[in-house]
Amino acid sequence: MYDLIIRRARLVDDTLADVAIVGGKIATIGQLPEDAHAHKLLDLAGIYRLSAGWIDSHVHCYPSSPIYHDEPDRVGVAAGVTSVVDAGSTGTDDIDEFYALTRSAKTNVFAFLNISRIGLLRQNELADITDINKEQVNKAINDKSGFVIGIKARMSNSVVGQNGIKPLVMAKEIQQENHSLPLMVHIGNNPPDLDEIADLLTQGDIITHCYNGKPNRILTPAGKLRASIERALKRGVLLDVGHGSASFSFEVARQAIALGILPHTISSDIYCRNRMAGPVHSLATVMSKFFTIGLSLQQVIRCVTENAAAALQLTSKGQLHPGFDADLTIFDIHTAPQVFADSEGESVHGEQLLVPLAAIVAGEVLLTDEGKAAHVFNL
Ligand code: ZN
Ligand code: ZN
Repeated sequence: MYDLIIRRARLVDDTLADVAIVGGKIATIGQLPEDAHAHKLLDLAGIYRLSAGWIDSHVHCYPSSPIYHDEPDRVGVAAGVTSVVDAGSTGTDDIDEFYALTRSAKTNVFAFLNISRIGLLRQNELADITDINKEQVNKAINDKSGFVIGIKARMSNSVVGQNGIKPLVMAKEIQQENHSLPLMVHIGNNPPDLDEIADLLTQGDIITHCYNGKPNRILTPAGKLRASIERALKRGVLLDVGHGSASFSFEVARQAIALGILPHTISSDIYCRNRMAGPVHSLATVMSKFFTIGLSLQQVIRCVTENAAAALQLTSKGQLHPGFDADLTIFDIHTAPQVFADSEGESVHGEQLLVPLAAIVAGEVLLTDEGKAAHVFNL
């Protein structure tokens, strides 16, 4: 007896499959016998799509943050997203409270700990170097392992003030002392210059806001890939979208993708304001924007499933295979004229919008508003 059977799901390669779940894990995927039984059945009728649960690698969902706040389940399961990673909203001052607040969320919540103890209390959290306390950071990484899955350093002029590249040097030291845990680096206005940042990064480090339109963009003024980024990519540095209110340019994305510089992960950098007023709205909206630049459904989904799980070292997530966590996303693709805006005021016309219908977290089915309105799931 299974806990849940999902029948006739359309996978991203357009094949149909049944999925059986027991004990919060995927038990079987393929064609199940007619007489297979479960406590709960979802029949997707060969119409609705299923993928491994979407992982948003860069959100802000610490509800008590004075500047970038949101509710984990708003940016998570209500948007078809089964796992979210808060990217540095909290440092050691607030990580315990953040952890406590997220225990009641249905969404899997993880955190990149801000290397500044104050987190995003203000915009310039790395302007005072004494706010980086390596001992306290190491202790929080240890105490909250499984929740704190990486560290975050925001390396732009407004954040670091007069400290230049120094916070990143310290972040790399912290990383070395903690088994090379993931490091996410925000890029924006210089100094420090992107070349200086990129040259310090090593395999597995994540550059977020990779298609930003600011001076620290990954392209030269002539539209070529910066040599420092080319070298970094060869070393295995990863590119994350981190769309946000000010960090995604269609023009940069188009040029980069034309050069073969694809995102490793697609993330939203969502918080309440850019969710409600745009230009982010949701992870699904950010993902849909990449159809207009020529990425396929398979490429887009891979960025929020297996690529994200690999980058975040979430080894039991991101794949539709027996033994993996039963985190799944059910979605539809609406084909109708769409207008998508980036963070630079450019609008692009598209034809396809991803519409999440349900997030399944450890086997528990959580319908989105669209999923409820569709009346297709008799739960
Ligand atoms: Zn950022
Ligand atoms: Zn952010």
